[in-house]
Amino acid sequence: MSLVVHKYGGTSLGSIERIEAVADRIVASRSEGNQIVVVVSAMSGETNRLTALAHHITDRPSPREMDVLLASGEQVSIALLVMALQKRGVDAQSFLGDQIPFKTDSGHERARIEYVEPKNLLDVVRRGAVPVVAGFQGVDDIGDITTIGRGGSDTSAVAVAHAIEAEECLIYTDVDGVYTADPRIVERATKMANVEFEEMLEMASLGAKVLHTRAVEFAHKHDVPMRVLSSFEDGEGTLVNSGADHMEKPMVSAVTHERDEAKLTVLRVDDVPGIAWKILGPIGEANITVDMIVQNTSVDGFTDFSFTVKRADFVRAKDLLERSLQENGFHESTIAGDDAIAKVTIVGVGMRSHAGVATKMFETLAHENINIMMISTSEIKISVVIDERYVELAVRSLHDAFVLDE
Ligand code: ADP
Ligand code: ASP
Ligand code: MG
Repeated sequence: MSLVVHKYGGTSLGSIERIEAVADRIVASRSEGNQIVVVVSAMSGETNRLTALAHHITDRPSPREMDVLLASGEQVSIALLVMALQKRGVDAQSFLGDQIPFKTDSGHERARIEYVEPKNLLDVVRRGAVPVVAGFQGVDDIGDITTIGRGGSDTSAVAVAHAIEAEECLIYTDVDGVYTADPRIVERATKMANVEFEEMLEMASLGAKVLHTRAVEFAHKHDVPMRVLSSFEDGEGTLVNSGADHMEKPMVSAVTHERDEAKLTVLRVDDVPGIAWKILGPIGEANITVDMIVQNTSVDGFTDFSFTVKRADFVRAKDLLERSLQENGFHESTIAGDDAIAKVTIVGVGMRSHAGVATKMFETLAHENINIMMISTSEIKISVVIDERYVELAVRSLHDAFVLDE
């Protein structure tokens, strides 16, 4: 008998019919001899709906109350799925974050996982029942509800899989695996049978939202094999694990893109030591992730400084930036913002041993007349920031140029 985690995402639970279908899948998997702990997301669209409700009231809802609000989405799914299982004669029990408990720090809306207690879940498994866990949520030291960031229930699933020492963490979703590009944009994208953690990590963090970045990070760190599968049809899916041999890998394995980016530029800032620290310090302290950073060569002792943040953090980052320019007496500086940019990335462990990948990427974009605003590279990826309007064209032409449809 093997102990596995099944995670079902929003679209897999988008309606009562889908929830019933998930219950059937769990029943079938149990009859193949698996012991299953289920982790679920909110029904599709629900977390967005709740977020919109909050934003009708205020631009800056309190993070603690956002967590109370957003965690309700998963509470609905666990209850409905347990009812569907019980209707099929399966003993099942729902778990909210604090009933596990799934302990996190108090960083509301993006809390870090501290510890997942396996005992209560394993007790239920031992009595032959199915625990159904609310993903995305946890509880902090003082008993407050926390959430671990959008898309976080993949990470919840991996954390649960690690805690109960499951053999595999199966991520059931609306695609039948990990593709060479988002199949919604590139029709000819192909399914990958196996992806290495490292590659998947870059893909996820650079827009392949089929898996949550932190889920892959966590799985990599604790060596929890993951498998991405369709909840709609049977199949082998894509295995995500530590992989083996890099020798035969293609230069580029996948193209990813990310739309919800924004760029802030500080124009004419004094080019003196400590500048980056003064500009970015308050932004980091506010828990806003800064991604690409570019500082221009200085002219007359002044320089321009640009960086990107998530579009959702744009307004907050801009406010902080304005304040720190004032406080530091940079009266000549002005701020320019652009929240209609996107990032396109090519990823591949094979890049390590191939030259000329960047040239080919830039040439491809040039042929499409797409202007590159920023570039950043690592050993196994190259990212560019472009105007959001050209993102689909960029992804498709790069997918073609690196022959990923074969
Ligand atoms: P869930 O609700 O199950 O968590 P998500 O919407 O978070 O599902 O993730 C699945 C989606 O990820 C797919 O519908 C697909 O459009 C998108 N996606 C983006 N990039 C990729 C990729 N490289 N391979 C597969 N799916 C991808
Ligand atoms: N429901 C949460 C979200 O939409 C978590 C998840 O689905 O993974 O972000
Ligand atoms: Mg997801």
